[in-house]
Amino acid sequence: MEGKIKDLVKKIEAKTIERRRDFHKYAEVAWTEFRTAAKVADVLQELGYEVLAGDDVIAPEAMMGVPEPEKLERHVKRALAQGANPKWVEKMKGGKTGVVGIMDFQKPGPTLAFRFDMDANDAIEAEEEEHRPYRENFASVNKGAMHACGHDGHTAIGLAVAEILTTLKDQLAGKIKLIFQPAEEGVRGAKAMMVKGVVDDVDYLVGLHLGFAFNELGKISCDAGGFLATTKLDVTFTGHPAHAGGAPETGRNALLAASTALVNLYAISRHSQGPSRINVGILEGGTGRNVIPARAVMKLETRGATSTINEYMYNEAIRIIKAAGDMHGVKVKIAETGGAAGANSNPELGERIKLVAQRMELFEEYIPAKNLGGSEDVTYFMERVQQKGGMAAYVIVGTELAAGHHDFRFDFNEEALSKSVALLSGVAVDILTGEK
Ligand SMILES: [Zn+2]
Repeated sequence: MEGKIKDLVKKIEAKTIERRRDFHKYAEVAWTEFRTAAKVADVLQELGYEVLAGDDVIAPEAMMGVPEPEKLERHVKRALAQGANPKWVEKMKGGKTGVVGIMDFQKPGPTLAFRFDMDANDAIEAEEEEHRPYRENFASVNKGAMHACGHDGHTAIGLAVAEILTTLKDQLAGKIKLIFQPAEEGVRGAKAMMVKGVVDDVDYLVGLHLGFAFNELGKISCDAGGFLATTKLDVTFTGHPAHAGGAPETGRNALLAASTALVNLYAISRHSQGPSRINVGILEGGTGRNVIPARAVMKLETRGATSTINEYMYNEAIRIIKAAGDMHGVKVKIAETGGAAGANSNPELGERIKLVAQRMELFEEYIPAKNLGGSEDVTYFMERVQQKGGMAAYVIVGTELAAGHHDFRFDFNEEALSKSVALLSGVAVDILTGEK
């Protein structure tokens, strides 16, 4: 069947590239992917998938870093004007832009899930002749939103895999779940889908990303790991203003409370079970030289090699921030704006994916990537599946990059799309039939 897959991939290659360019042109940032998600839902439904969206796949209480309602409303209007199907947009109100396509093959077998992220970056795309999306007229028309991480490619790959599996469906057993996730940037979206239970019945989960350090077509890692668990926090300190010369004793210094917190956050003891990190990236406060600062804002993140270590860092950070507020008589408001779990690929599943890739002769160089060190919220899905006794793996598909990830000149080699489609379709056939 693997030979047949390669033919099918070739047949829809042009369509896959076209879709990638369409998603690129109408780039949408976290929780505003109304058009992208609606297009995905349309295609999945046409192909005969059961399609879940909005409240059926997103737990609102676990959504992090959601834009203000007015901004969401603006994006709803924009998406509709750009051709989104109102039926889906209605379901996705409030930013619930997740979509899951499910196909039950009516024969007993495992449940396999693939995860694709759909969001763009907060970036203004390059308008230069050397930048292919600009030159070939598919640069983002949505100012301030740009696909600078390849998620436009991931979404197109997901739809191509969806199509190929429907062609092969009579030969498959078990169930496939195609998870299209919003808001990966800032690690904000996966948790809400995980909490909703979208991977609770999943035996095998595979995530895929184009690029990273693998800047050449033909390179691949089938078992990436070493993702750090992380929590992103915004803290607002509110004190009381006063004349710094005339009546300083009546003031409550918010900036001082924030500074006390900052210094002590870096004094958290290390954890014996593995690496941890803390960083205060932004501290702003005060209004003038002679005014006791009444307000300060701090943006920080904690990380840990495992979810347990990150939780320790998080709990310590919260205690210190609150205590610093108390110390200076300043009120503290803490908002969690993002998070990811720690995770590693199961080596057995990584090996199985590698065998499929080798049989299909899709790649030349297999690279282990066990210590990525960054964070990706696919880890919420991976961790959940692993906790329930299933297996998960993260695949990185190499491609030439015009510039680094999140750079406004980012672009990738579109040949990586078909390689990814072939690989995931091959993996699906391997897992859902056992057939070679
Ligand atoms: Zn990315």
